[in-house]
Amino acid sequence: MIGLYVHIPFCRQKCLYCDFPSYGGLKRYQAGYVTALCREIEASPYTGETADTLYFGGGTPSLLTAAELERIMASIRKTFVLTKDAEITLEANPESLDQAYAASLRQLGINRLSIGIQSFSDDLLPGLGRVHTAGAGKKAVLAAYDAGFRNLSIDLMYGLPGQSLEDVDCDLQILDELPVVHASIYSLIVEDGTQLKAGLEKGRWHLPDADLVEREFREVHEKMHRYGYHHYEISSYAKGPFESRHNSKYWTYEPYIGFGVSAHSFDGHRRWANLANIPNYLKRAGTESVVAECLEIDAKRLVEDYCFLALRRRAGLDYGDYARRFGRPIEKDFGAVIDGLVREGLLVRTEHGCCLSEEGLGYGNYVFSKFIR
Ligand code: SF4
Repeated sequence: MIGLYVHIPFCRQKCLYCDFPSYGGLKRYQAGYVTALCREIEASPYTGETADTLYFGGGTPSLLTAAELERIMASIRKTFVLTKDAEITLEANPESLDQAYAASLRQLGINRLSIGIQSFSDDLLPGLGRVHTAGAGKKAVLAAYDAGFRNLSIDLMYGLPGQSLEDVDCDLQILDELPVVHASIYSLIVEDGTQLKAGLEKGRWHLPDADLVEREFREVHEKMHRYGYHHYEISSYAKGPFESRHNSKYWTYEPYIGFGVSAHSFDGHRRWANLANIPNYLKRAGTESVVAECLEIDAKRLVEDYCFLALRRRAGLDYGDYARRFGRPIEKDFGAVIDGLVREGLLVRTEHGCCLSEEGLGYGNYVFSKFIR
């Protein structure tokens, strides 16, 4: 079954570290964008397919009005078959999420919220360019819960300029007190072209040293276990059955179809990305192709991608699944690589294959690079 992704590129303002396809100050495009999205969805060549996940990502999808989301949901339901138990997620930011809005999202069938908190520190949030306060973050989570959401996720970050180990601890303690069942906890990555990168180069901020970031990562890992979460992907923690079903499709190499500017899609053999330019997208959506680039994935790349995506998950590589998909045992392609990484202590063998060891979690990129031939 496929997953569906809908990209909403609008934000109140651009966060300093963000290199996602998202833009502040473009509200004037919002209504036209929703119309174009509906046109693109309804003209999809995948009409009639069954989807068991739908994800509104951004940007800040919670900037859309309930009426705008209702139009998009109507186009999705008209074009695709959503399973009865489909996971329908919307990314929301605290500044645009209150109880009345959350209740209207539930009426539309949205059953999971992923709330961009990033930090519960009023000292750190302005330095990230976030427009909300720590209090607003907590209030948004509680409002969503009071509106009836039980599948709630938050995003947090560590490795931030000026952040101490105590700050990370404090965020985790607050997380533990909130009614959330999933958290994505990322280390800050300094991306090219961001205001953060420019500020660092000018000496306006200083990154914490690698040693502190490593201790913060271990702290996150240990505390989340203590708070009853299981670690199922490098940056993702869930309580009970609340793993993100949509994101899991990316890591288990399942197909997904994206709509909207810069949305990505994957059909098992090809990856493609939509246009990034909003005015061009508005002109073309629904009447001509909005695909900006398409990559046919050759057999070599297919197995490499499969391996490093699978290794992001704590369950790791399943040798039986590899053999079923690619028609040969994994040992034939990667036996020596896996043996070497096991000897280095970065991979451990499991009942069905292998996965990152506790130590390997801190060296994910090194391990993944070994699978690129
Ligand atoms: S709210 Fe999210 S998508 Fe928007 S600028 Fe900030 S990090 Fe990027």
